[in-house]
Amino acid sequence: MIKFHPSIQQLSQFADGTLSSTEALIVSAHCDMCSQCRNKLELYIEANAEVAFPETIDSTESEFSGMLEMITSQEVDAGIQVTPKNHIIDLDGKTFELPRTLTRFADSIGNWSHLVGKLWQAPVDIGGDTVANFIYMEKGGSVPEHTHRGSEMTLVINGEFSDGISEYDTGDFMVMNGEHKHSPSTQADEGCLVFSIVDKPLHFTSGWARLINPFSHLFFK
Ligand SMILES: [Zn+2]
Repeated sequence: MIKFHPSIQQLSQFADGTLSSTEALIVSAHCDMCSQCRNKLELYIEANAEVAFPETIDSTESEFSGMLEMITSQEVDAGIQVTPKNHIIDLDGKTFELPRTLTRFADSIGNWSHLVGKLWQAPVDIGGDTVANFIYMEKGGSVPEHTHRGSEMTLVINGEFSDGISEYDTGDFMVMNGEHKHSPSTQADEGCLVFSIVDKPLHFTSGWARLINPFSHLFFK
């Protein structure tokens, strides 16, 4: 069950179209997976339409319906309606279904590389200055304890993990910054696949991983 959602502010800015494009991307992907947030978005968008265009509500309907359709037409449970090759990540014999928003980057997913500690990573070219990755943790895998020089947005695509702060499940969305120190790990049999966007390299805080801080821009890139 989804416990962690974008903030009210993020959802309303998404509805306003004022969220940064990278933040909008991951918030939109969460909304693909979360009917609760899709419902809130509809309300925001309807309210905005009435405030912004009280006289011409009819003519703006198609504009908003396009956005609404993008957000709401997809019932995740009913399956994602794109060509099969675009919505599946195939990794080590396991397949993972991508939320609809991320399928348009299916051709921009780089090669998977095997990191330390049962971690796999594939970069995703989403444009801009931020760095996006799919990260897969096998059962027993962990990311060394770290904090953040900038912010780290994470969406759980499939599986469960915990990080010493909380436990997360499929669809959960989190934003971490310099105030958060955590070390994600999973004991789930099927492992855990997340989509993550960082705007600055991570800062590792314990053990051997501290040694790689000068190179963390290479490591988590
Ligand atoms: Zn939500």
